[in-house]
Amino acid sequence: MEQLIENKLIKADQTFSEWKKTPFEERQKLIAKMAGILKSNSEKFGKIITKEMNKPISQSIAEIEKCALMMNYYADTDNILKPEKVDSEYHYSEIHYIPKGVILGVMPWNFPFWQVLRFATPAILAGNTVVLKHASICFGSGNAIEKIFWEAGFAEGIFQNLEVGHKEVKEILEHDAVKGVSLTGSGRAGGEVASIAGLNVKKSLLELGGSDAFIILDDADLNEAAKVGAQARLQNCGQTCVAAKRFIIDEKIEEEFLPKFIEEYKKFVPGDPMNKETKLAGMARPDLADDLENQFKKALENGAEIIIPLERISANEFKPGLIRVQEGNPILQEELFGPLGMVMVAKNDAEVLQMANDIPFGLSNSVWTKNKDRQLFFIEGLESGTVNINRMTSSDPRFPFGGTKASGYGTELSLIALKEFVTPKTIVGN
Ligand code: NAP
Repeated sequence: MEQLIENKLIKADQTFSEWKKTPFEERQKLIAKMAGILKSNSEKFGKIITKEMNKPISQSIAEIEKCALMMNYYADTDNILKPEKVDSEYHYSEIHYIPKGVILGVMPWNFPFWQVLRFATPAILAGNTVVLKHASICFGSGNAIEKIFWEAGFAEGIFQNLEVGHKEVKEILEHDAVKGVSLTGSGRAGGEVASIAGLNVKKSLLELGGSDAFIILDDADLNEAAKVGAQARLQNCGQTCVAAKRFIIDEKIEEEFLPKFIEEYKKFVPGDPMNKETKLAGMARPDLADDLENQFKKALENGAEIIIPLERISANEFKPGLIRVQEGNPILQEELFGPLGMVMVAKNDAEVLQMANDIPFGLSNSVWTKNKDRQLFFIEGLESGTVNINRMTSSDPRFPFGGTKASGYGTELSLIALKEFVTPKTIVGN
């Protein structure tokens, strides 16, 4: 391992021995300070995101503002990590929550600030220190985040950006100083990193891909569902883990809904990412556009029909596509990470549910119906970490976020995330 990287791991470990003794409320003050820096510089930091991965600038600014909102949530939260008394016959009868130490974050490029801070904020508030391996196209974001931590007054070893490629993750995770890993990214990367963590008996948390359903039943508000559905698929150029990727439509409203949906969908035309009016820009890298184009071809070869063609207009830009897919098409087992949506039509609620669950993933589905009984049917039956009723998926710091099945394990956001990288230590006896 490069000496510079090892020095950073050692520094993170040494800083941990002080940081873990810092009172929770003191840690919260620094987090509040950092939220303020993010909020008042959202345009400046947003530009770094847009430059690195092409996200339309208005969405990059919104990402920074959401980071500030999330950090303020943790800055104001109750200390659920205080020693807890347990009723028992013993004199000592308590649970103490002990931070684990240095935690490695392996993060993706699609929300370069949000993914990092969503993981790092509760981990650090719980008393851990963090080292970051960011996506190779996002080292500028990683460095900027590191500087913001320092500017807010955090000691230098509390958050450090490592600027390493993915081949170096193994050695870093195997280092004695590192006590756990949180990875957001593809299933392939997640599986590899979790197996290294497992072999070294270190805790791992995985936030992986999804192919969420956006379900439109016959009593839904069709205009609203069409508008929100297009946004849910095409925001961030379709490169969102919880984007709506499969639109499952009740056959009774297919004829009425589809034209409305197509009209909303076509409002997303590629533009200059630095223009504040732009809703859609290029994908993050040309090779990712190649992958999407190949998946489009594969879907068609297996019987999918074109509703709107996916049209490549430059190395990384598309006019968004929409295809109709029948059950059994192997493309349904994959994640489409770009501006291509799938439409499926179902005869009744039971068939909708069966189609929605018939994938390897389970991140965050969305159901559109005004009927309470039908809402409950889907709330109970959908196999996903989140179920949204009459809204698109959008994470909220107050609620737990995480997947089931091949979408990963562990929880981010909410108070639950504070307990992901701590050991509950039992104190019992007389
Ligand atoms: P990715 O290729 O898996 O990369 C994610 C991170 O893992 C990057 O830092 C990457 O480093 C690293 N990495 C890749 N292969 C690795 C390996 N074999 N060992 C160790 N580290 C490795 O994913 P991506 O293309 O950046 O992101 C898209 C994926 O992330 C999608 O599947 C999406 O659904 C998922 N995602 C999930 C969530 C969620 O919350 N569930 C959120 C956002 C994204 P390099 O850049 O150096 O290769």
